[in-house]
Amino acid sequence: MNTEEVKKLYEQYLMPTYKASVVIEKAKGSRVYDATGKQYYDMTSGIGVHNVGHCTEGVVAAVQDQIAKLGHCSNLFINEPQALLAQKLVEISDLGGKVFFCNSGAEANEAAIKLARKWGAANGGRYEVITMRNSFHGRTLATVTATGQAWCQEGYEPLPVGFNYADFNDIDSVKAAVSEKTVAIMLEAVQGEGGVNPATEEFMAGVRALCDEKNLIMICDEVQCGMGRTGKWWGWQNYSVKPDLFTVAKSLADGVPMGALVSNAKFADVFTPGAHASTFGGNPLAAAAALAVIKIIEDENLLEAAQKKGELLREGLKCFAEKYEKILDVRGLGCMIGMVVDGDPKEIVDAFRDMGILALTAHGNVVRFLPTLSMSEKHLEEAVEMMGDALDGLYGEEE
Ligand SMILES: *Cc1c(COP(=O)(O)O)cnc(C)c1O
Repeated sequence: MNTEEVKKLYEQYLMPTYKASVVIEKAKGSRVYDATGKQYYDMTSGIGVHNVGHCTEGVVAAVQDQIAKLGHCSNLFINEPQALLAQKLVEISDLGGKVFFCNSGAEANEAAIKLARKWGAANGGRYEVITMRNSFHGRTLATVTATGQAWCQEGYEPLPVGFNYADFNDIDSVKAAVSEKTVAIMLEAVQGEGGVNPATEEFMAGVRALCDEKNLIMICDEVQCGMGRTGKWWGWQNYSVKPDLFTVAKSLADGVPMGALVSNAKFADVFTPGAHASTFGGNPLAAAAALAVIKIIEDENLLEAAQKKGELLREGLKCFAEKYEKILDVRGLGCMIGMVVDGDPKEIVDAFRDMGILALTAHGNVVRFLPTLSMSEKHLEEAVEMMGDALDGLYGEEE
């Protein structure tokens, strides 16, 4: 089928929730190919999903082997990949707790909110979760309410009760939002959809101290900034403090849908048998894929690579900021990078796409880059050059 034919099927049969552009047919490493055979550098990684790259050998082999052996196993029975993955996640987070598996970021956050409420019910009848403005936590009713952005809540009222909002990187605002009903504070170490905003050390330490003082649960949403994206396994590891709970999804199983809630020791046994569940959660197929992802990140030193390549990309983008008045700032951590522009970032994302580069927008006039951590330096340099050409086309070759 050609592009127009596929687009026609979309128009006729898919609810119009997305404004999608090109038809992607296949991928390898840091590159994807559309239905006309055109090649793109994927600097979105499928929105932070393919941290290890597309169609990576180790993941492909693990998925093929596992689905041929045991694709699914209900949680009424025990499967080894789930056990090994939970062990691994607890080891690399060093929180000494336990894991609950589900299928997406929204579900992982939903699990965190439910755990917080269950614990809060038994500890002073508390249920309210404080989240940050411009955060993003998912699209279920509870997580869209947790998401501190009005545009994705509109039309879904009445929203669930039990949420309150504060300003990111403003600890006084968080303190002011705490009431006798508060049970948890949830935040991203680096806000993704909200504009690639890293938390300050002062803020993360302030939230931790506030949680300790008021007996609140500190929850980090690592769905976008986790799994090596920032150059550490978890975004919060860039700071001096540890959360009580954190959630992970997007890149966990390299495209096999999977989410997880990871706890420290204190909250490891709040969920009791029957208290929460998921049919697919931690099934052997997804768990095998995630084990392969973690092995690749370890074997190929992708944490270090994320730092090094992120720096290289930031350097390239900073040259654009020097050259073009319309490019205002470059920020981020590791391979999670935002370029703040004067005007509509979509115009730039469109121009990049025409040139053969896939990038994202984010809140606050930001062009967002989430390249694969495995993208080679040569490809990265080539991509920066192509983006330069696209910007010359948009703004004219200055000087
Ligand atoms: C994408 C995202 C989510 C939602 O994940 P889904 O898998 O789409 O439900 C939650 N939190 C953050 C930080 C995200 O980036």
